[in-house]
Amino acid sequence: MIWAAVEASRATGEKDVSFKVLYCGICHSDLHMLKNDWGTSTYPLIPGHEIVGVVTEIGSKVENFKVGDKVGVGCMVGSCHSCDNCADNLENYCPKMILTYGAKDLDGTTTYGGYSDIMVADEHFIVRIPDNLPLDVGAPLLCAGITVYSPLKYYGLDKPGMHVGVVGLGGLGHVAVKFAKAMGVKVTVISTSPNKKKEAIEHLGR
Ligand SMILES: [Zn+2]
Ligand SMILES: [Zn+2]
Repeated sequence: MIWAAVEASRATGEKDVSFKVLYCGICHSDLHMLKNDWGTSTYPLIPGHEIVGVVTEIGSKVENFKVGDKVGVGCMVGSCHSCDNCADNLENYCPKMILTYGAKDLDGTTTYGGYSDIMVADEHFIVRIPDNLPLDVGAPLLCAGITVYSPLKYYGLDKPGMHVGVVGLGGLGHVAVKFAKAMGVKVTVISTSPNKKKEAIEHLGR
């Protein structure tokens, strides 16, 4: 299999937050990367990009986090902070964006994801996990959650009285239903799987 002993994450830089990983979701892209389905994987590979834990160390210039904070990180751990895309909060289009795993880090080493013991990331890509959100259920929000929350907000589909269709009731779809319902939106699930009707109505419908 692909697991192998690898070096620990990079040292904590002055703008970095290090945290002990307590939970990490499994996104389908982790499975694609494990099997090199996209032809971009390099090994050893440690996937995982729905990562939550508790801060163990902060760099000298970190402003927003302290040791002991509950935090998470998604699919990015760094970017250049100086290009037009970074200035527009579109770091995902930064030519120097650093993916959470399988990418080249600032020091030239390979990044490793959330199935590690410790994560190190630029504080800009760290999010705070509120005390009233259990860490285990918070983890999947960092990819599956934001992937559906973002378009609901971006396209203004978050207003009570609106009517939204969710195609497919899988890992992302069921989170979309929960967000949309919480926003007061009427939701219709569209699926070709008959058993999803029961799941949608009985488990997510109320
Ligand atoms: Zn993902
Ligand atoms: Zn940039």
